[in-house]
Amino acid sequence: MSKKASLYKDSKVTCACGSSFETKSTQDEIHVEVCSECHPFYQGKQVNRKSKAGQIEKFNKKHGIEN
Ligand SMILES: [Zn+2]
Repeated sequence: MSKKASLYKDSKVTCACGSSFETKSTQDEIHVEVCSECHPFYQGKQVNRKSKAGQIEKFNKKHGIEN
């Protein structure tokens, strides 16, 4: 284990939307106003990831690659 990793401990993240989850941080508790559950940016990210997968599918079809 490196020295840097030992600085991080289990900490509870509480979001304004009510959801909470655990993560590794230098702080015991973290309060956030948005999280992956309620932030539209994260939801948009998932949409982007989906469309990217669609692009790969298109690419594969175009080049005759079958999954
Ligand atoms: Zn939230």
